[in-house]
Amino acid sequence: MPNIVKKTTILNAFDLLAPHPCRGCGRIGKPLCDCCKKNILENHLNYCPNCKSKNPTGNCQKCKSLPRTFIIEERSGLVGKLIHDYKFNSVRALALPLAEILDQILPNIPGKVSIIPLPTIGKHIRARALDHTLLIAKKLARIRGKNYQVEKLIIRKENTVQVGTDAKTRQKQAKNAYKINEKLSIDKDKTYILLDDVWTTGASMKAALKKLREAGALKVIILILAVNRLN
Ligand SMILES: [Zn+2]
Ligand SMILES: [Zn+2]
Repeated sequence: MPNIVKKTTILNAFDLLAPHPCRGCGRIGKPLCDCCKKNILENHLNYCPNCKSKNPTGNCQKCKSLPRTFIIEERSGLVGKLIHDYKFNSVRALALPLAEILDQILPNIPGKVSIIPLPTIGKHIRARALDHTLLIAKKLARIRGKNYQVEKLIIRKENTVQVGTDAKTRQKQAKNAYKINEKLSIDKDKTYILLDDVWTTGASMKAALKKLREAGALKVIILILAVNRLN
């Protein structure tokens, strides 16, 4: 345990002080240089995380129960590396380029919009000193401007930890993991963006979606950084 703490502290200090090598090409400057960011966007092809079909409009024709869904790509290559460094090495400087990419793949949405980060387990936030999905949500809201806000509408029930490795166990755990934050109210005219970092079985996202719809949300969009590669 002490080793992990030490490593995180050093990485956080490095993150703040040192100029960043680009995670894509190694060029010193930004943690993701403009050229590598452009490459990610040029290669971006939206697909459905649930059935893996091409999904350019976000509306998957096969998965009717899902709302419009946008995703950067598979959790492999450079995007996988960015997520890993951001989430597990707590490289906060990666929140902005990741949010900038999400801004580019997300269509314009008229009216008021709320971004809802899927809640991370408290123990993980403390260990990493970073609430990684919340920070990206905040950066994205800032990029998009005054119609956007971040709302912690979905919260975790206490003592729920997603540890199951098989899809069935994860689904069962996810179903009971979330609840609606009753301090906040649902606005039927507002668009709600459910934001998460990685789609593995989709169990967490589907559970959160169900809670949000049950609470009365009518316009929902799913936004995800990456899908775990299928073996
Ligand atoms: Zn680069
Ligand atoms: Zn689909």
